[in-house]
Amino acid sequence: MLNLVLFGPPGAGKGTQSEKLINKYELIHISTGDLFRAHIKNQSTLGQRVSALIADGQLVPDEITIAMLEEEVDKNPEAKGFIFDGFPRTVPQAEALDDFLKSKDSAITGVIALDVNQEELTKRIAQRQLETGRVDDQADKLQTRIAEYFDKTIHVLPYYEEQNKLSKVNGIGKIEDIFADLCAQVDKY
Ligand code: ADP
Repeated sequence: MLNLVLFGPPGAGKGTQSEKLINKYELIHISTGDLFRAHIKNQSTLGQRVSALIADGQLVPDEITIAMLEEEVDKNPEAKGFIFDGFPRTVPQAEALDDFLKSKDSAITGVIALDVNQEELTKRIAQRQLETGRVDDQADKLQTRIAEYFDKTIHVLPYYEEQNKLSKVNGIGKIEDIFADLCAQVDKY
């Protein structure tokens, strides 16, 4: 199995590149952000539990997020592999994912971090807010998301670095060029 984690701060381009990667490598894309938004849209019990947190830019508690993720993986028993986008966002999530995959005799193949500077991220998210109206893309909520990223999510990087699974790809430039760099990395696995 090819199990990738696409890692990066809000606005790094994880969603855009995931779409391209799943087509090329025939993987299942699991974006926890997309899953939460679908739950909120459908007004499911889970959606009702998490909507205020997400609108505010805070992370959803690990136990809720991990359970949702595992359920989604289990819906795809025939998958050739997965791209995890927006997960793991905390070290406990990374540990839970390792344990979960291990219980299926599988593992994370590699983690690719999309490298984008703060100035570019702010610009992209302001643009996305105009296009999609996502409430958590508003400036004050974005500050909370960036704070959550530096408080909790950044620690996921050394976790994978210690396992020799981390590589970085420049996330600024043409979408096609970034995609080519990602593919070059994936082809090395
Ligand atoms: P971004 O554009 O910031 O990468 P996502 O669409 O991935 O955003 O996620 C949107 C929101 O969903 C996050 O700000 C957070 O509230 C919640 N969320 C998504 N994934 C996770 C996760 N792995 N752990 C906790 N909360 C999450």
